[in-house]
Amino acid sequence: MESAGHYDVIILGGGPAGLTAAIYLSRARLKTLLLTEGTPGGQMTLTHEIANYPGIEKINGYMLGSVMRKQATSYGAVVKGNTEISSFNLNGPVKRITTASGETYTAESVILATGGRSRTLGVRGEDTFKGRGISYCATCDGDFFTGKEIVVVGGGNSALEEAVSLTKYATRVTVVHQFDHFQAFQYAVDEAKANPKISFMMSSTIAGFYGGEKLEGVKIKNLVTGEETDFRTDGVFIFIGYVPNTGWLKGLVEMNEKDEIIASSDMATSIEGVFSAGDANAKRYRQVTTAVADGTVAALAAAEYLHSQKRKQTEMVPA
Ligand SMILES: Cc1cc2nc3c(=O)[nH]c(=O)nc-3n(C[C@H](O)[C@H](O)[C@H](O)COP(=O)(O)OP(=O)(O)OC[C@H]3O[C@@H](n4cnc5c(N)ncnc54)[C@H](O)[C@@H]3O)c2cc1C
Repeated sequence: MESAGHYDVIILGGGPAGLTAAIYLSRARLKTLLLTEGTPGGQMTLTHEIANYPGIEKINGYMLGSVMRKQATSYGAVVKGNTEISSFNLNGPVKRITTASGETYTAESVILATGGRSRTLGVRGEDTFKGRGISYCATCDGDFFTGKEIVVVGGGNSALEEAVSLTKYATRVTVVHQFDHFQAFQYAVDEAKANPKISFMMSSTIAGFYGGEKLEGVKIKNLVTGEETDFRTDGVFIFIGYVPNTGWLKGLVEMNEKDEIIASSDMATSIEGVFSAGDANAKRYRQVTTAVADGTVAALAAAEYLHSQKRKQTEMVPA
């Protein structure tokens, strides 16, 4: 199939990792294409406020994504949102990516930056009440719960930070967490505990959701006693971690048991010329800053790879 365009590097995924790689590559005058599902900005677009990105005191996540995109395109990168990949071949010197709308693009190198998505509880009623009382995004849906009583599930940074942000709307927020301690940074725990609108149900989990047209309540299971109780609530926000967006790469790129991509310190994967950056990688901490750092390294390593490939080709040309 004829290529709709040949690029030095194609980046798959438009979160902070992919957008940073696009900024570095296009500034280095490398022909760069970024293809992403959804809106460029990735998971950042789901949070109302990012307050830990150095140099910017506070910024809306969607806005930070927009600025990164603008920066990348200003240097010549082509950024295509809402693009689904239907097939690809990452092996060999020329990588080939085909989109669901039928365009095939080729490149010398590919950077995988497909991040992750919210984990679901997988209990009864969850699918039924998604969008009818159950949400995974405080920024998107918090406002709908103004003056209501809600539940937040989880005990990490996202859960506690979003519980605090949801108190702007809700009259009461009950945090349900499966352990007797939190996995969040101390500042997040302190802030949630100091908020008079927040209460906690520790060593507990949601066993099921019920209601009519809309969610009316949850069954809460005490994990110590096994006892299940009804808890009336208008809404439930679930922040229990993430699943890497790597299912499509299974068996092709080396991954660990959690389907996280194994990359070297230079972000190189098990396939020559293919690099990987951000939350899709096996790593301990997942933040905008760590994604941005990975994107930088992947871009510089991809540029060096392209340079070494060109040098090899020149050396092979007979004098
Ligand atoms: C609610 C919430 C609040 C957060 N708050 C903060 C915060 O305050 N500070 C902070 O530092 N971090 C925060 N984070 C974490 C931070 O957003 C992530 O660590 C960061 O966005 C990861 O960047 P990434 O580029 O690796 O991936 P992502 O941001 O996940 O972006 C990946 C992109 O790739 C796309 N994609 C997926 N599969 C494919 C495919 N097959 N082909 C093409 N594209 C694909 C996705 O649609 C997405 O747009 C928050 C996360 C959430 C969910």
